[in-house]
Amino acid sequence: MDSRTPKGTGISVGDYKPQEIEAKWQKRWNENRVFESEADPKKQKYYVLEMLPYPSGTLHMGHMRNYTIGDVVARVKRMKGFNVIHPMGWDAFGLPAENAAIKNQTHPRIWTNNNIAEFQKVLRRFGFSYDWRREISTCEPEYYHWNQWFFLRMLERGLAYRKKSRVNWCPKCCTVLANEQVINGGYCWRHEDTLVEARDIEQWFLKTTAYADQLLDDLKQLEGGWPERVITMQRNWIGKSIGAKVWFEVDGDRGPAISDQGSRAGSSEAKAHSSAGLMSDLKVRPPEEKPPSQKIEIFTTRIDTIYGASALILAPNYPLAESLIAGAEDGREEESAGLKTGHCTNKSEMRMKKLAQMKQSSVKMEDIATAEKDGFFTGRYAINPFNGEKIPIWVGNFVLMEYGTGAIMAVPAHDERDFEFATKFGLKIPVVVAPEKPVAREVGSQKSESSGAKAQFSADSMSDLKVRPPKEDPKSPDATPASGAPKEAYTEYGISVNSGPYSGLKTEETIEKMAADAEARGFGKKETIYRLRDWGISRQRYWGTPIPVIYCAKDGVVPVPDKDLPVVLPANPKLTGEGQSPLATDPEFVNVKCPKCGGPARRETDTMDTFVDSSWYFYRYCDPKNDKAPYESAKADYWFPIDQYIGGIEHAILHLMYSRFWCKVMRDIGLIHHSEPAARLFTQGMVLKDGTAMSKSAGNVVGALDMAERYGADTGRLYTLFAAPPEKDLEWSEESIEGSWRFLNRVYRLAEKESQHPLANSRQKKAEKEVGSQKSEVGNEKKNFTSEVTKGTETTERESQSSASGARAHSSAGVMSDLKVRPPEENRWNPDATPASGAPGNLTEGEKALLRKAHQTLRRVTQDFETRWHFNSAIAQIMELTNAIYAADESVRAEVRREVLEILVLMLAPMTPHLAEELWEMLGHCGGLWTVSWPMYKPELAKEEEVEIVVQVNGKVRGKVKLAAGTSEEEVMTLAKADAGIAAHLQGKTIVKVIFVKDKLLNIVVS
Ligand SMILES: [Zn+2]
Ligand SMILES: [Zn+2]
Repeated sequence: MDSRTPKGTGISVGDYKPQEIEAKWQKRWNENRVFESEADPKKQKYYVLEMLPYPSGTLHMGHMRNYTIGDVVARVKRMKGFNVIHPMGWDAFGLPAENAAIKNQTHPRIWTNNNIAEFQKVLRRFGFSYDWRREISTCEPEYYHWNQWFFLRMLERGLAYRKKSRVNWCPKCCTVLANEQVINGGYCWRHEDTLVEARDIEQWFLKTTAYADQLLDDLKQLEGGWPERVITMQRNWIGKSIGAKVWFEVDGDRGPAISDQGSRAGSSEAKAHSSAGLMSDLKVRPPEEKPPSQKIEIFTTRIDTIYGASALILAPNYPLAESLIAGAEDGREEESAGLKTGHCTNKSEMRMKKLAQMKQSSVKMEDIATAEKDGFFTGRYAINPFNGEKIPIWVGNFVLMEYGTGAIMAVPAHDERDFEFATKFGLKIPVVVAPEKPVAREVGSQKSESSGAKAQFSADSMSDLKVRPPKEDPKSPDATPASGAPKEAYTEYGISVNSGPYSGLKTEETIEKMAADAEARGFGKKETIYRLRDWGISRQRYWGTPIPVIYCAKDGVVPVPDKDLPVVLPANPKLTGEGQSPLATDPEFVNVKCPKCGGPARRETDTMDTFVDSSWYFYRYCDPKNDKAPYESAKADYWFPIDQYIGGIEHAILHLMYSRFWCKVMRDIGLIHHSEPAARLFTQGMVLKDGTAMSKSAGNVVGALDMAERYGADTGRLYTLFAAPPEKDLEWSEESIEGSWRFLNRVYRLAEKESQHPLANSRQKKAEKEVGSQKSEVGNEKKNFTSEVTKGTETTERESQSSASGARAHSSAGVMSDLKVRPPEENRWNPDATPASGAPGNLTEGEKALLRKAHQTLRRVTQDFETRWHFNSAIAQIMELTNAIYAADESVRAEVRREVLEILVLMLAPMTPHLAEELWEMLGHCGGLWTVSWPMYKPELAKEEEVEIVVQVNGKVRGKVKLAAGTSEEEVMTLAKADAGIAAHLQGKTIVKVIFVKDKLLNIVVS
């Protein structure tokens, strides 16, 4: 079998040879440098970008979707006259290279560069229209130089700082993980079966929290341009909420220990814990603000539920715990709650024992959600400051000293975990929030979906003081507030009930009002809190950007001077995958002179998180060779913001949050003049095979190169676009690929046939039948496509003219804005200057019908590309048009058929660019499609021809209906019946017969 036919498919093929065609046109594109662009303020720019790949393994078809979508957009925008930048580069630092190096004894650079070469080969093979001159690789000193430069600028501004802190340590990665890299309640994001450990080490942090408000507020700018889902995820990640501290007074003065925290006798353990500060950064309240003595401070985001508090629960190592217990009286029997005391009389002693026990078996953070709840009553009470009620003070194993204040108020009716605890230990469950509208179950479940973001937030939020299990389905309580104890916690917002003067207010109002009142009355304080944490960037790895600081015994932390940048990675590290940072093992790297005093000093040996690399890479594309600055501001000002960013939803939080942060920092440094890097974001669906995402580990990949070898890149591209709408998941199907392949063959044969039957012949043939000169029109037609393109200056003319239209102002408005940008007429496919579309008066009925189909398709496809990316429906339309051309009979002249075929080729150009170029050439054009603009449809040709149908009842004319030619009898009948005048004659009668003459008459016979 011919090597170009799809192997084993048995498909008969014509002379469509994708491998030859694709190589030919890629060469021409390169020679003509058609994808290169330069910043030019006179031109309307368009920046389309796919997220830069991490080069690892081989590219499969699951990867190609992102790039194919981006390429279609880039090519359409070019055809529409935009100055398009469409770059590509490599996220080249990272752990896999280091792991591979350890395993295979190769240098990470070799491993990485081999992968880059492989990736580049595949992307080039698919003909993606990148400006390869702008290619960057983040592992090169020319690039990471600027990571270091940015770090130093942040250090100067107090945005980079060092602190000893508890970190997440993956024993398999042997490195620190960011909080967001800890998944599924305590596992490594790369090793989903490996529990993350806690360690305390000195770390470098970037102060993302300094921009928390801006990161939140600026999301408004992105509305309409970014998927709502992503905006919600970003908002929840920042997690701003209004919380309040409230101080509960301890009831009764039972001893000096309570009134003086400093003299806590025998509580050295607790004291040590409270002052250790290891996790102090995780605390919500600033450490310097101590709660007043004799009071227990709690923090809550739901102060509105305070009337429903049925206990305060302390962490086992809460500083006051011992002294509280010591001060308790051996009272009534129920005060032994939680103690398996039997008939022991000394409850205080039992409590102390229990406390010691709980301290020892403290629940780990990651187990808190699932651990068996345990607790006991201290024998003491606190006063609810809002209503003066006495509530018991408990100790619970699920309250952590490390979060918040180490004490919580338990509101069982409105918190699932508190509910569980209260049910187990018999605490009261007062209901203080009712659903806003008493809703039925089904409605409730719908509501939970729409308010899922809120539920998610409160579940995720560390600031809540309580580490809660994720709540997937917040439910309304079964019972109404009045009818006794609820069967489950109602955790949603609603209306306050049983809450004194606050009853009847909405949750939001109650929160505001109670927090303000608590502050005014001196027992609380309103606080705005964020879930967002500072970004820990230190990594104990080799394959990353060295952090450019030096430690001197005399001068402390000394920044590496700018003139000494970049701090280059040592060439030959010892990579063992264990222990300290590999950089620490190289004495030549480590031992340096202090830039300040010249004395002996040590370099920092950690490298930066690779998210640093991807936080600003798209700016470097604007000016990739700059060795004086990360990029020239004027260039960034021209190209930014990115008009269309495309990538996977998995990057919806981290990469985009860090990029947005970096953008704001660069703005404050004065490098750029905008606040958001990307005006529009698109997240494509996944490619599935056999029901699961295509991935090497799942063993269900279809190699991209194999695909190109079997069917050609154009078939792969077309299939990827056709198989599903771009935002939806795509289920891979070999059969459908063959369908795409057959379609392209059909188009090819059509053009082949056309090119083998010269227009002159068919014209001669037609001329026998028809009078009228087509000669001049044929001449025009050719000129229309080719006259300008041979001059060699057309691109410039086209572009400069388009910018003259002043469309620059729309640069950030996105997809819709370019409707206003029109390339100049000379390079436009102008329907008025074509033989058929341009002179519709001379057309036969068959020609009219075919042209109508062509212009309708063009209209639809143009819209599908413009507004929403309905590539799949666009392709379906083009397939129908292809059928229509095949079906065209003798009444359609060759030149009309050819014109329609040309429209078809132009519509295919962004999606199957190689084939389109070849067909364009076969149809007699020279100069390449890159010189041709997107065709414009002619509304009057796209319009359905309207006919007037006479409607008779029993032979008498009773009305007329106007509708599109070719409308079916059924539809005409429906329309006729809807006409009041006609309907009057049908009323009460039985239809016995209907006579229908298409496009002319409907006669209804009634009795
Ligand atoms: Zn790991
Ligand atoms: Zn020094």
